[in-house]
Order: sequence, then C-alpha cells, then structure tokens
Amino acid sequence: MVAKSVQELKAYCLKSLQEHEITDTPDLEARLLMQKATQMDQLQQILHSDDLLTQEQIDTLHHLLEQRLASIPMAYILKEKEFYGRTFFVDQRVLIPRPDTEILVETALNFAKTRETPPNIIDVCTGSGCVGITLSCELGYDVTLSDLSDEALQVSDINARSLLGHPLILLKGNMLSPAQQKYDIIVSNPPYLTKAWCDEVSLDVQKEPRLALEGFGEDGLDCIRTLIQQSLSHLQCDGALIMECDYRQVEEIKRLMIEKGFAKVEAVFDLAGLERVVWGILPCTNNC
Ligand code: GLN
Repeated sequence: MVAKSVQELKAYCLKSLQEHEITDTPDLEARLLMQKATQMDQLQQILHSDDLLTQEQIDTLHHLLEQRLASIPMAYILKEKEFYGRTFFVDQRVLIPRPDTEILVETALNFAKTRETPPNIIDVCTGSGCVGITLSCELGYDVTLSDLSDEALQVSDINARSLLGHPLILLKGNMLSPAQQKYDIIVSNPPYLTKAWCDEVSLDVQKEPRLALEGFGEDGLDCIRTLIQQSLSHLQCDGALIMECDYRQVEEIKRLMIEKGFAKVEAVFDLAGLERVVWGILPCTNNC
C-alpha cells in the first residue's frame, strides 16, 4: 500500500474487493475494514478523509483486507455479528448467527409467553449462544446452553457474560445427553445440511465450522433424529421442541415428530418466505 490517507486507503480496499469479486457489498466492507483498523466510524471517515493513517493502522488494515480477500467472512474479521438487536462476539470457533434464525427465537418466545410460570429452557447446539442468550435477555431469566464443542462453549460463555452480565449453565455433550433434567422448551438450531449441500456452500460459509453445519445421514437429519428421540425423555408435560431446519426437510421432520407422539406439529416461515422452523408439543399423556 502506497497511499496513506483514509480516502485513498478506502478506495484501495474497495478496488481490491471488487477485483477479487469477494462480495456484493464492497463499499460497506471497505468502510467496515477501515473502521476496524482506525476506530473511525462512517461519519469520521468522511470528515477526516484526508487524514493520514499511522503505519500501524496501515499494517492492520492490510492484514484485515488480506483475510477478506481469502474469503474469511466479515463477521470473523470484525469479531462480531448482530443478532436480534444485540452484538455477539464471534470467531472461527462458531457458526455466524443468521437473520433467519431470529424466527426460531420468536417461536420460542411466543410459546414461552403462553405458559403460566416461566418455562425452563435449554438451547441445544448453542454455538455462539445467540439463540439461548437472546431468549434469556428477552425473558429476563436464565436459559441453559449445550454444545458438543468445547470451543463453541468458550464463545457462548463470553457472550453470556458480556450480554447478561453473568455466566449461564453450560453443558458439554451430544445434544441432550449431558442434561440431567426435563425442560419446558428445547430449542435448537442443530447442524442439518446434507454432505452435498455442505460441499456446495459459498467460500465464506466453507470457513465456518463443518461440525455446526453438517447434519449427517443422507438427508442431513441424523442430528435432528437424535434430538427428537432424546427430547422424549427430556421434555416436561406439554413442553415444546422447537428446531430450525431447511425447508426441504420440513415434511420429514413433521412426520418424525408425529410418529414419536408430538402434537400440534407445525412449521413457521422465515423472512425469505421459506419454512424454516418446525415445532410441536409433547402431550402429557405421552411422558408424564
Ligand atoms: N445456535 C447457533 C446459531 O443458531 C449455532 C448453531 C449450530 O452450531 N448449528 O447460530
């Protein structure tokens, strides 16, 4: 990098991002990379466009740009992602929270509000903790988080402490296997992509943990099958199992849940108009 002013360096970033066809939003990303390197927000970058960056800031910017040109997702570079109005810390240890997952949160919140007493909730495959911690923030009481990955639990712990001001109970293990009790709501965005879908994802998504994406089995539903089965012994009377999935899996998941005794099984649409969440209630007669 020869140029040294904010304006020149931002233009350099923009051009590099465009030339490498990295993103559909190169302007935005050039600005965010500049912001990360200099702590100058959008307005400051305009007001101080002729200011010169220090050598340290230039080196940082260069390093950030290199990462983006290598298709590292912006969220990992910036180390944060907004979800349901809050900023979550994220890095390569966890899946990046998706706007579509907010519908999973909404579905759990709506069900929680129908209960007379505060429901006991567990977020399975918590990753960054975005689902469980958001529920905890919105409802005003603690939610339990579980994940197979120690590394993911480290990230969810960081987020719980920063967003709630205290740690949440973290369980390490496969789905509900470490759980010692029953819950009123089991909510999960489990891995559900098939191997083929995983192989087709964009370069950005390939940088995310495969463990958080691939659901195993030909139809990607092995994790979800395990979760449905385990839920039978971990749901309270009239408790709900609420899961995110791909719209192509909805009918099969509904069938599996009904086969196992769930009632009121239904799908909920995401912002793109696709069925994204399946949920149902395990009636009292079944497990009380
Ligand atoms: N619960 C987290 C999310 O929704 C992580 C999901 C996962 O790892 N499959 O982003």
